Amino acid sequence: MEPTASEPPYLVALNRTIYLLDRSLAPTQKIRAFGKGRTILNNVEEVGGPGSVEALTQQGMLTSLDGVGSSIESVVRGAYGVGPTDYLDDLEASTVVEIGSGAELRAALKGDCHSHSTWSDGGAELRAMARAAQSLGHDYLVATDHSARLTVAHGLSVERLAQQLDEIEQLNAEFAPFRILTGMEVDILDDGSLDLPDEWLARLDVVIGSVHHRIHQEPAHMTKRLVTAVANPHVDILGHCTNRKVMGNKRRPSNFDADYVFAACAQFNTAVEINCRPERQDPPEELLELALEWDCRLSIDSDAHAPGQLEWVNYGCDKAAVSGVEADQILNTRSADDLVSLLS
Ligand SMILES: [Zn+2]
Ligand SMILES: [Zn+2]
Repeated sequence: MEPTASEPPYLVALNRTIYLLDRSLAPTQKIRAFGKGRTILNNVEEVGGPGSVEALTQQGMLTSLDGVGSSIESVVRGAYGVGPTDYLDDLEASTVVEIGSGAELRAALKGDCHSHSTWSDGGAELRAMARAAQSLGHDYLVATDHSARLTVAHGLSVERLAQQLDEIEQLNAEFAPFRILTGMEVDILDDGSLDLPDEWLARLDVVIGSVHHRIHQEPAHMTKRLVTAVANPHVDILGHCTNRKVMGNKRRPSNFDADYVFAACAQFNTAVEINCRPERQDPPEELLELALEWDCRLSIDSDAHAPGQLEWVNYGCDKAAVSGVEADQILNTRSADDLVSLLS
């Protein structure tokens, strides 16, 4: 990310460190420790005035601060030229998100349709997410925080959604021509209806419908639930369709009749998401092939919960390329204007 003139060197370096840890799916504890260190140093700079962190660094006093360990010290010393920049340099090299046969598709992407911010369970403010998306070459980012039912993820009530729409308007004035499109990842309820009133669904540029609870219900029920949801004229994208997790706390996929679901996606112009999160990799290859047989639209989405995770679209591009997907089958190869008018 481009540092802004107002950001002191320690902050640029720590932000970059956190960005790189995020893109490598580093343990949450480690990322939190850097985030906490950043907050502590921001306080030092605020209380002591500009240059306070640099002064502490020169004096070798950083680790005397509670919550600032040797890794943070090493990054900050590097930022002020007091020590080597190895820590950050090694991280830059070891966390590169590779791109293979999907390079052409990646170059064709104009935006990302699935992202979270601190409005729900994301780790960064929408402004930081937008700035990162812009620096990756995107023309737009769709803000799709969680709906109210997902209380563990601080899902948005309609009141908070209205506030978010205000913030998006302000940010868009600042970021133009880059755009933040409005959206939500709305929970698909047990009967296939959506966790947001119709009038609100109609106001949003992009609506993702996702299942987040009762994932392993009986297949006939799940099939009907998904078909009902994707047939809803407000739903534009079916998010992470199987809900499987292939890393960490693994989770077996939902069981449903994918022919019915993808036929409905094709019939009602609902895109099937290629969710790029490394622990999801959803849909599995065989289901992607089936979605292609039904001629479904696709959307290659990072589902980023932090700026560095926006780079994960590379994984989905590689996966799509292996399955022979063409750029015009992908929703987010369209410009923001085309996308909005297509989905309205
Ligand atoms: Zn989700
Ligand atoms: Zn999501």
